[in-house]
Amino acid sequence: MAALVKPESNFDPNVNIDISLSPLVNSVKPSKTIAIIDQAAALALAGVPVIRLSTGESDFDTPAVVAEAGINAIREGYTRYTPNAGSTELRKAICHKLKEENGIGYTPDQIVVCNGAKESLVQAVLAVCSPGDEVIIPSPFYVSYPEMARLADATPVILPTQITNNFLLDPKLLESKITERSRLLIVCSPSNPTGSVYPKELLQEIAQTVAKHPRLLVLSDESYEHIIYAPATHTSFASLPGMWDRTLTVNGFSKAFAMTGWRLGYLAGPKHFVTACGKLHSQFTSGASSIAQKAGVSALGLGYAGGKIVSTMVKAFRERRDFLVKSFREINGVKLFEPQGAFYLFVDLSSYYGREAEGYGKIDNSEELCQYILDKAQVALVPGSAFGDDSCIRISYAESLPTLQAAVERIKKVLIHLNTAALV
Ligand code: PMP
Repeated sequence: MAALVKPESNFDPNVNIDISLSPLVNSVKPSKTIAIIDQAAALALAGVPVIRLSTGESDFDTPAVVAEAGINAIREGYTRYTPNAGSTELRKAICHKLKEENGIGYTPDQIVVCNGAKESLVQAVLAVCSPGDEVIIPSPFYVSYPEMARLADATPVILPTQITNNFLLDPKLLESKITERSRLLIVCSPSNPTGSVYPKELLQEIAQTVAKHPRLLVLSDESYEHIIYAPATHTSFASLPGMWDRTLTVNGFSKAFAMTGWRLGYLAGPKHFVTACGKLHSQFTSGASSIAQKAGVSALGLGYAGGKIVSTMVKAFRERRDFLVKSFREINGVKLFEPQGAFYLFVDLSSYYGREAEGYGKIDNSEELCQYILDKAQVALVPGSAFGDDSCIRISYAESLPTLQAAVERIKKVLIHLNTAALV
């Protein structure tokens, strides 16, 4: 339906513009994480000493040798379009990595290099889902999955998991929710926001369920693969018996190699599906940045699982995780599970809901609690509702230990206040 309004410019006040938008856009929700991130950024700009534990990116710099490879690419004039699916050099390096580290064999024509893992994910969803199909998403989920399903005119089917079960999907629940419309199951391990890592045995059980349903494919988001804490280990879904033909594997450079701004990710899978993703990629964006691709080759050359450089970063993440887990376990009314990967702690603070802070009002949900913590403690966290679980909040520990120590002190203070005020 037309929605006629005066044009923004007001050059000609007699002209009306139809500002209606596509139903697809209207079906997509704006990211809830953005609101609090924007607020925190505005406060920081105004000079307020906000501690931002809301973003999903590493505080480390891109390894110097990798950055240097990008700089050299510019110096050497490697600044033109690459093939749509990515340079052969990078795709070969990706195939080598997937074989050596993940035990999955691909040829370069089964890889599409994208502008970040996010683009790979949306290409995969758009390529395989038909209108009315169901996309099965365990919750808590990465914010974009349900919206990607909606963009494909498919229906997100959210399967809740429990903190007491380490936020892992119960294969029986999965089995009970599969219908003839089920097209895609999205598995994210290590998980954003929970830090859960799926053990191999559980993935095998899930694979056995998937195998019973010929229409069902799996989108395996392995973006945090390298940020994992022993004894947890990573298993690629496509490496499980019978799963190679049904799995689209997505990975990227953002998390492991601290390369969020380079915008580089990739998708690997059977040629039939990957070619379809490549077709979409060619019409949406075409080949990823040539400079980033050179840096990507260098990153994959750092050694097995990113070598010493990546393991040093992971060691730091682990220390921070240990600190946060210990600190939050000491706070009254907090439920948590120790994350095994990624750099987030997803804590249940729902025991604070229904309580009142003096001069502030009642806190009823994760959004209000995050707002309270931002206003009173000047620490930015993300409400669990953004990830489909309102009882929790997400704390990113991609910040230095002293910053995390300061944040914990501040959070503790305002939670205690909320505690005592509740008794009023
Ligand atoms: N998957 C997950 C689970 C993520 O957390 C993110 C980024 N926060 C992405 C994919 C996208 O990463 P990028 O596009 O930067 O590679």
